[in-house]
Amino acid sequence: MPEKKLFLPIALLWLFSLVHGSPAVKITPGANILVITLDTTRADRIGIYGYQPGQTPNIDAIARKGVRFENAYTPVPLTLPAHCSLFTGDIPLAHGVRNNGRYRLPAQSDTLAEILQRRGFTTAAFVSSFTLESRFGLDQGFAVYNDNLPVKKGQVKTYSSERTADLVFADFAAWFENHCREDKNKKFFAWVHFFDPHMPYTPPEPFKTLFQQNPYDGEIAFMDVYIGKIMALLEEKQVLANTLTVIVGDHGEAFGEHGEFGHMMFCYEENLRVPLVFYAPGRLPENKSIADRANLVDVMPTILDFLAIPIQPVPGHVPGPEPSGISLLPLIAGAAAKERTFYIESVFPAEALGCAPVKGLIKGEYKFIDLPHPELYHLATDPGEKENLFFKQNAVARQLKQTLAQLIKQYEPPIGQPGRELSAEEERKLKSLGYFSFSSKNANAANLPDPKEKIGSLTEFVVGSRLKGEGKTNEAIVYFNRAIELNPTFSWPYSMLAQAYLESGKIEGALDVLKKGIAQNPGEYQLKIDYALLLKKQARWDEAIEILKELPRQEGGIVDVGPEVYYILGDLYSEKGDAANAISNYRPAALAEPENFVIKQKLVYLLHQSQKYPEALEIYRDLEKATPGDTGLLLNMAILYEQIKKYDLSKTYYIKLLAQNPAPPVRVYYNYALLLAKTGDFQEAAKQIQRFIDNYPADDSLKHTAREYLEKWESAN
Ligand SMILES: [Zn+2]
Repeated sequence: MPEKKLFLPIALLWLFSLVHGSPAVKITPGANILVITLDTTRADRIGIYGYQPGQTPNIDAIARKGVRFENAYTPVPLTLPAHCSLFTGDIPLAHGVRNNGRYRLPAQSDTLAEILQRRGFTTAAFVSSFTLESRFGLDQGFAVYNDNLPVKKGQVKTYSSERTADLVFADFAAWFENHCREDKNKKFFAWVHFFDPHMPYTPPEPFKTLFQQNPYDGEIAFMDVYIGKIMALLEEKQVLANTLTVIVGDHGEAFGEHGEFGHMMFCYEENLRVPLVFYAPGRLPENKSIADRANLVDVMPTILDFLAIPIQPVPGHVPGPEPSGISLLPLIAGAAAKERTFYIESVFPAEALGCAPVKGLIKGEYKFIDLPHPELYHLATDPGEKENLFFKQNAVARQLKQTLAQLIKQYEPPIGQPGRELSAEEERKLKSLGYFSFSSKNANAANLPDPKEKIGSLTEFVVGSRLKGEGKTNEAIVYFNRAIELNPTFSWPYSMLAQAYLESGKIEGALDVLKKGIAQNPGEYQLKIDYALLLKKQARWDEAIEILKELPRQEGGIVDVGPEVYYILGDLYSEKGDAANAISNYRPAALAEPENFVIKQKLVYLLHQSQKYPEALEIYRDLEKATPGDTGLLLNMAILYEQIKKYDLSKTYYIKLLAQNPAPPVRVYYNYALLLAKTGDFQEAAKQIQRFIDNYPADDSLKHTAREYLEKWESAN
């Protein structure tokens, strides 16, 4: 066991910048904070950053009234780790979140939201992609964490769950209107995350037609409209004048410059450079462009500095050996920049493709990337990173390699932090359970292939996914097969290939592909889930359960798919007729996705059936708040209250039901009549049973019984 490292409190003391009194920057402790994050948005696709073909009038206008950083970098081209860096002011090595899914921001992290909440700010977040769902830990400190992503009926959220700018804006606007109604003068910190520019590029009209040649620009244009609406709303409520707005990208997007399409694999400029704009009317300079490099990790210290909040060390929280982020206010006020070293990384190639991880540094005029085939670029003269100077300027490269190694060594993760290396014993244990572990794929980094050699498999996968999305299933199959051929330890193409086979009605082919995929990648949960779902389709419940039932038990290991696995297990047991086990699996799924009514409906149905009345009632009440007029729900509540002999309440629910739905399913009259008879109200009971008789179409024993009741109750009157 590695020795537990002691961090000194100095780690968190960002130096208070000396801009107080500077005419250009007015420190404003009472300001609101609005952070808008633009997923997958390259700086060089924004008008104010010099791009002509796009359409970003709103971002441009805000930047013209504020300060923009021309050379802002993300430390990591992955959504979750990048946002963790943004909101902790530290690099992935420090906050511990290295990839999307599976990692969760540790509770000990002190986020911007937590700091501002402690200072009395109302906090609210509105996110648009599954990768930022509350289960991944960024909800810390947010009183409202709105991750209401639309899911298809009968499903739980998955990796592809996302929402468009119009939907996230609507939720933000509703919250904001309410905030202003309650107390407009209460300080707030709001975060709105737009996901639209992410693949696949499918802007709605008119941007679909306008940007036929470049739908990525169309997505940015669509998002820009809603940025404008946010600003208009703040202005309308007269809140804008007292708000610091920060617009920032989480990472860029590659279009084949270095072989990648997308953004997860490499750390070239196209993956890392993002827009970064600060706007606070009358408090920050107008239309100021700053060429000095800035980093996502600087945003939090800058905001705190602007609010005059000194950073205090918080006991028990996870700091890095030295703060990564600095306040940018001195630069904004006109101070000269100091030379900084930016750490950059992507462990995605290691964790998803079995390659060496990408790690590197940006320092002075150079970028160094440490890989089996290492790279050195002179950014000042070669911003396109075309000429690798590793051998030509080997002394520089060696120096940077050493600096990088020292930096990484400082961050050796303490026990308990996600992403730490496993001990041999832990590794064996996990392997015996069939679990994936990060070190198993990159145990021997020296022998791993360079991601440059495996980018082909990712590209084939990306093209295949696009074709499949366009309905060209047969063409897509060719690409997925090629991706697997190029890199059998890349698991995603197996999933997509199986889906493609399934769409073509070849279920046996799909099963075969997944079996092969699991054999090659025994630790990949998603392949097992896909396989179990196919078995479920064939009513092979026990086999499916066998595959899934151990998966969720791995604490913290499957943050991303845990609820999905529980949900599928619930379905499997339910279909099999095992209500007790179905309930015990639906419960944690419902807990993880409290806003998902389908899970709750399935769970409550079984609880009610199994006579677990108090728990069922609690969920019914919850559902009633969300769908107050639902006939089935009101009927079930009426029945349950009758079962627990609360006849008055039962009656209330029948009355509600009939008020909501004047033509309910005919059985409602029958049930209601019996309840009324139980309470001695034979007159009303007779009225309801008459309705049943009038509306019930068949002439069977039920109708016969009803007539007998009617006779009995009429004579009782
Ligand atoms: Zn992203």
